[in-house]
Amino acid sequence: MPKLKRSHDRKVTTLSTPNGKRSAIANTFGLPSGKQYSCPYATSICERICYAGKLEKMYTSVREVLLHNWNALRNADRYDMWAMIDTMLLDFKQDCDTKGATHLAEEGNASGSDTDVLAVNCILRCNRRGLH
Ligand code: SF4
Repeated sequence: MPKLKRSHDRKVTTLSTPNGKRSAIANTFGLPSGKQYSCPYATSICERICYAGKLEKMYTSVREVLLHNWNALRNADRYDMWAMIDTMLLDFKQDCDTKGATHLAEEGNASGSDTDVLAVNCILRCNRRGLH
């Protein structure tokens, strides 16, 4: 089973690098944007102004990570999705513990676990694509 890849997102990091320019821990999960990927109902206006799509064009390494996740999840059944997401979150928690950072879910989501939040996000997107 492939492993999902995390990205670095400075905006939501719980630990930044000493110069503050980057998250010290890969803390974000993403899928590629656009109609052919995780936004099947994107409008023409949406596609023209899409912030995510612009970033994907600017940063090819980010796009590669997102495509990797897309390819890992697009044909996976629900169980495999949960397993991949769970593994990713355990890795994230391990990185947080190693570096003394707080876990994002403890601060941002009092009612559910990391897995709940990310899996719901993932399943919603995949349901929209008819991947289940
Ligand atoms: S604006 Fe949002 S919904 Fe539209 S294509 Fe971009 S990521 Fe998808």
